[in-house]
Amino acid sequence: MTETLQRLDEASFQRLRDNWQSVVDDVAEATHQAGRDPNTVQIIGVTKYVDANLTAALCEIGCQDLGENRPQVLWKKAEQMAPEALAAAGYANAAPRWHQIGHLQSNKVRRLLRHRPMIHSIDSQKLLDVVAQQSVDAGITTTCLLEVNISGEQAKTGMAIDDTRRCFDAGIPTGVQVDGLMAMASLHGGQDDAAAQFDRLRMLRDEFQEKYSRPLPTLSMGMSGDFPAAIAAGATMVRIGSRIFAGLM
Ligand SMILES: *Cc1c(COP(=O)(O)O)cnc(C)c1O
Repeated sequence: MTETLQRLDEASFQRLRDNWQSVVDDVAEATHQAGRDPNTVQIIGVTKYVDANLTAALCEIGCQDLGENRPQVLWKKAEQMAPEALAAAGYANAAPRWHQIGHLQSNKVRRLLRHRPMIHSIDSQKLLDVVAQQSVDAGITTTCLLEVNISGEQAKTGMAIDDTRRCFDAGIPTGVQVDGLMAMASLHGGQDDAAAQFDRLRMLRDEFQEKYSRPLPTLSMGMSGDFPAAIAAGATMVRIGSRIFAGLM
C-alpha cells in the first residue's frame, strides 16, 4: 500500500511558491549576468529533504523536474505521485520527470528504470553497462550523465577523470544516451574553488566532445550555494534543494 497523497495547506503552498519564484528569478539573473540565453538553464528541484506531499506541490507549482538522491525514495515517491493520485489531490498541472542524482547501486537499476529517470550519477563503467543492458531489456533508452570527481576529494562521489575517459574509449553501449557530465564542487572550498571546478568540468566536456565527435550538451552542476558560479561556467542543469524548501523542511 502506498500512502495517499495529501494536498498541501495553503500557507505552506504560498511559502513554496515564494521560494520557487525567488529561485527562478535568481537563476534568470545569473543566466543574464553570464550573457546566456534564458532558456539554456534548467532547474532540477531536489526533493530529498521533503515528503511526497511537498514534492507533488512543487511539481504542481511548475517545477516538473525532480531530483532524488536515493533510488528507493525516488520510486516510492513516483508511485505515490502516480497520475491518479495527483488528480485526486486536485493537482492538474503536475507531471513529474524524475532525475536520479545520488549514488545508484546496480541492484536498484531495474526497479528505478520503471520511472524513466534521467540518471546524473553514473559513477562507474559497470553501472553504465548495467543501466544500458536493463534499458535494452525494457525496450527504452536511458539518458545519462557521467559523474566526475572534479574536486579530487576522496570522499566525493564520481569517477576519476581518467575513468571517465576510459568510458568513452570503451564506446557508449546501446540502451543509454550519454548527454554530458555532472559534478559537485568541493564542499570545503569557497566560491573561487567552486568556480574553478565548474570551469574544469566544462573544459573536460569540450575535450570529450572534440575527441569523441559526440555532442555532450548537458552540464549538471551547481546547487543552492553555488549555482551562479556554475551558470557562469556553462551549467545547463542546476540542482537546487534547500533554497526551494527553506522554512518547509
Ligand atoms: C542535495 C543535493 C543537491 C541540492 O543541494 P542544495 O544545497 O540543497 O541545493 C544537489 N545535488 C546533489 C547530488 C545532492 O545530493
